[in-house]
Amino acid sequence: MSGSAIGSHKVLDEKLEAIAHGKGVVSKLYRLLRLSSPNCNTLTQSQWQQDLGINLSSSDWDNLWRNSINMSKCVRYRVIQMKIMHRAYLTPTRLKKMDQSLSALCWHGCGEEGTLLHMLWHCPVIESLWREVAYILSGILKIDLQLSPVTCQLGARVENIKSNKHQRVIALACLSTKRLILMNWKVRKPFCFSRDRWLEEFLFLLSMEKATSILRELDKDTSDLWVSVRSFLSVQTHRYFFPV
Ligand SMILES: [Zn+2]
Repeated sequence: MSGSAIGSHKVLDEKLEAIAHGKGVVSKLYRLLRLSSPNCNTLTQSQWQQDLGINLSSSDWDNLWRNSINMSKCVRYRVIQMKIMHRAYLTPTRLKKMDQSLSALCWHGCGEEGTLLHMLWHCPVIESLWREVAYILSGILKIDLQLSPVTCQLGARVENIKSNKHQRVIALACLSTKRLILMNWKVRKPFCFSRDRWLEEFLFLLSMEKATSILRELDKDTSDLWVSVRSFLSVQTHRYFFPV
């Protein structure tokens, strides 16, 4: 955009004038730019909608994008969620498009086509891992939890659960599941999708979240929840030691 084009835009001029005389100029400018830009995620969103057979409103999508950057206090986990949202992970199907000599079949040997949704959700070994996660979470939260790909992959809230703390535990459990899946993306380690391995991953993320909360003096009210998660898991398995 040329300087004269900006100068001739009356509405934009007025908005910039208003921003220039207040506090928080940089964040207000960023917000103005973000709202003025066309949504660059439109294609990604429509691919997800097609894959999942859903149709979300633009405000639903805004919430999902916002959630994905707030889902965890740990950067590495937030990056995982952002990369899933952006469909950035390479799959057999995508690699086949780049190189016809490669196979498009799933790397876990199930014989199905290795699309993104298959690798993250539908593959039989992955599906049974998600079932186990839903079963454990149902025990922790004392509810009958049915997990959907919209919640597990895109981070949407589970309907009919009002408690934000419970929603957070579900989001973190899903995040640790996704990390486990991605750590065994192309080459699967023995027993990598077992219940014990998942519990290890989940507890690691919980301890990271708690440590960050203490350091930043955030979320003091969630510490009781971490205690209840740990005590549930300690009853379920004697393999772990949970300091109080
Ligand atoms: Zn498969």
